[in-house]
Amino acid sequence: PKYVYDFTEGNKDMKDLLGGKGANLAEMTNLGLPVPPGFTITTEACRVYLASGAEPPELRDEVTEHLETLEKKMGKRLGQPDNPLLVSVRSGAKFSMPGMMDTVLNIGLNDQSVHGLAAQSGGDERFAWDSYRRLIQMFGKTVLGVPGERFEEALEEAKRVKGTESDLGLDAQDFRKLVDTYKHIVREHTGREFPQDPREQMDLAIRAVFDSWNGERARLYRRQERIPHDLGTAVNVVAMVFGNMGMDSGTGVAFTRDPSSGRQGVYGDYLQNAQGEDVVAGIRNTVPLQELEKIDKKSYDELLRIMEVLENHYRDLCDIEFTIERGKLWMLQTRVGKRTAAAAFCIATQLVDQGLIDMDEALKRVNGVQLAQLMFPRFDENAVAAGKAKRIARGIAASPGAAVGKAVFDQDTAVKWSQSGEKVILIRRETNPDDLNGMIAAEGILTSRGGKTSHAAVVARGMGKTCVCGAEELDVDVKLRRMTAPGGIVVEEGDVISIDGTTGQVYLGEVPVVPSPVVEYFEGRLDPQDAGADELVRAVDRIMKHADAKRRLRVRANADTPEDSARARRFGAEGIGLCRTEHMFLGERRKHVERLILADTEAEREEALAALLPLQRQDFIGIFEAMDGLPVTIRLLDPPLHEFLPDLTELSVRVAVAEARGEKNEDDLRLLQAVRRLHEQNPMLGLRGVRLGLVVPGLFIMQVRAIAEAAAERRKAGGDPRAEIMIPLVGAVQELEIIREESERVLAEVARETGIELDALIGTMIELPRAALTAGQIAECAQFFSFGTNDLTQTTWGFSRDDVEAAFFSTYLEKGIFGVSPFEALDRDGVGRLIRIAAEEGRAARPDLKLGVCGEHGGDPESVHFFHEVGLDYVSCSPFRVPVARLEAGRAAV
Ligand code: PEP
Ligand code: MG
Repeated sequence: PKYVYDFTEGNKDMKDLLGGKGANLAEMTNLGLPVPPGFTITTEACRVYLASGAEPPELRDEVTEHLETLEKKMGKRLGQPDNPLLVSVRSGAKFSMPGMMDTVLNIGLNDQSVHGLAAQSGGDERFAWDSYRRLIQMFGKTVLGVPGERFEEALEEAKRVKGTESDLGLDAQDFRKLVDTYKHIVREHTGREFPQDPREQMDLAIRAVFDSWNGERARLYRRQERIPHDLGTAVNVVAMVFGNMGMDSGTGVAFTRDPSSGRQGVYGDYLQNAQGEDVVAGIRNTVPLQELEKIDKKSYDELLRIMEVLENHYRDLCDIEFTIERGKLWMLQTRVGKRTAAAAFCIATQLVDQGLIDMDEALKRVNGVQLAQLMFPRFDENAVAAGKAKRIARGIAASPGAAVGKAVFDQDTAVKWSQSGEKVILIRRETNPDDLNGMIAAEGILTSRGGKTSHAAVVARGMGKTCVCGAEELDVDVKLRRMTAPGGIVVEEGDVISIDGTTGQVYLGEVPVVPSPVVEYFEGRLDPQDAGADELVRAVDRIMKHADAKRRLRVRANADTPEDSARARRFGAEGIGLCRTEHMFLGERRKHVERLILADTEAEREEALAALLPLQRQDFIGIFEAMDGLPVTIRLLDPPLHEFLPDLTELSVRVAVAEARGEKNEDDLRLLQAVRRLHEQNPMLGLRGVRLGLVVPGLFIMQVRAIAEAAAERRKAGGDPRAEIMIPLVGAVQELEIIREESERVLAEVARETGIELDALIGTMIELPRAALTAGQIAECAQFFSFGTNDLTQTTWGFSRDDVEAAFFSTYLEKGIFGVSPFEALDRDGVGRLIRIAAEEGRAARPDLKLGVCGEHGGDPESVHFFHEVGLDYVSCSPFRVPVARLEAGRAAV
């Protein structure tokens, strides 16, 4: 294979091989934009290296060949003493991993070529020695593994000796001395000299970038972002351009639109006389990009022109890194930029209105995870106005959301407190990749420095976490674990604060939250055409309508009260896919169930059932009414009976205590006997579902009667009830046959009694591997299947759904056995295969078999795509996730 591509050879669709950065540098090169020349070493070379521990043997010659081409283009050789070509070696994986991997600048400098660089820059000795010390510092840290603080301390010491605050106060002589100190640090720490051979520098840097793929931070980030661990990174070798050649030079980042609102305009930060990562790292304070117009109008105008070219070409928001070297603009990177959930919806519809994309494409560019984020509640402005919390500062709105928690100032406390169930806000002056664990643990992140492109902002947006950054009025003292706000307000570790990532406001105390406008819209309380509705609501409305028009999958809700049913319907549910009747046996009614279980005689049992019947009927009437005209799948009682009885230990103690007192409670004794009789070692695999219906006479019959009578009553009242009766936990068709026969008998009875013929469907859940594998037989007896993927996952993996997530899933996730819990995202290979088999064989036996899913996976964005693929008719999920499922079902269809 070919391991090295010149920028002129690649394009933006080659991200797998060239990484995001390499593919987009190639694309820009071919668009004729000013990109410094260079080449990309493929991710495949990295994969060979990671697998075998050595670079592929052909790599060296290929690099040599491309380096020669580069040298010819530039008219100078790498590290040539009198006129050196310098290069940067930059990581660039398929998915962006901000700040996670390594980059080394100024490769090619050594004791000779530093003089050549000075000559090249018109005798700027200071610049040349500063560049050289930066090389040793970056190379020492990332390639040779010298702790970064050693260099930072030396730099601080040099500034102290000089009596200056900023590195701008150091001169050529100071940097020259610093180079000596740095070399000494390298020698001391590694037992070898800083390598003088430019090619050796380059080769070692390339290897270090490969290695950084498996750095701890990078691994953690990938787990968080669900990026596969086996992709590897590409390496870009790029001719250096310098933003630190004086005040007519600089470096910056820009967005073609506001990444938090989507609005068009000039968004970015610029830093004069600075190199490379200074901006992202937030080391010195940047100026807003608009100010570049005053500093260097020519470069500014060209930058805006290029931004327009890029937006039209990528047909999307792009983010950009650029450098100006003595008035000449260079593009160092672009990519389709990360954005907030709200911006994603707004930008997608804006681009439709600009004629750049169509509605199908707009639909593809948003997703259910983003929609779910937009449904989070926000802070209640009125409560703030009423003085419930005190506004203490305002920073930059970096990542939206409303977060409340206790102030913590370091990652360890953040992790520790959050593990013990506390909500925390991580407060730092600025964050760096070492804070990642703390950021994950926190509800929100607050920094006092850095802009929209600072590390905190970029990473928080990526994680969908609330973030306010650059709140400069705050004085953060990490050592004393406190911050001070204007007016002498002190916030200590543990004090509750609230941060609003949508407005940038910081409050002392807890601000109450109110529902999001997107939820208000779904609830029907906010009309998108109203003046009060903002652009976001209009964008969501348009995209949801398009999703609804495109999707094949129907979306139902899991609901078991009239209120939930009504809400689900407002959210767009087209019926109920799972009404869990066990929720109707709790509270007051528990005593009837207890009597049913304890019944010794037929008469006692009949009595208990007779007491439950009217209550059940009333439940169903309310639900049929709320879902009038739409299908309602009612599942007959599923959980083990002991769940309705008192706890064995508690009851035993009560009886024992009574006995010790010489008292005797007959009822308690009978109860205890029953609890003992029903006690199961493994109730999830025990007497539940259809087994219960077969063992407890009259129970299912009572429920079916309640359904039939409720439907008849609704019909009499002019309603249109559509009942579907669902039998849980079936493993063999014989189980279903018995229950179905009984149910049909009851339906016929009620029809005779009421004079109303009901066409209720009778079907089953598929929750056991045996049910899936004998689906052909079961379908002979079932009018529909609903996949209960919670139990199907439990029984396929043999994972107890109530225990494993707490017990050992974190280890499994860490070891990469799966990237997400299979209870969250459907396991396509195992559980999914059973679903495929059941769907195919079920439909073969009964072509009009209705297929749905009602486990948690029905509302999981990724899983919805799978259910679309295997041809289910509908998914069913909790009411709040109905819009998410509608959106994803639409996306799956375009
Ligand atoms: C299931 O098992 O997926 C299901 C929907 O039923 P429950 O969660 O009530 O067991
Ligand atoms: Mg189940």
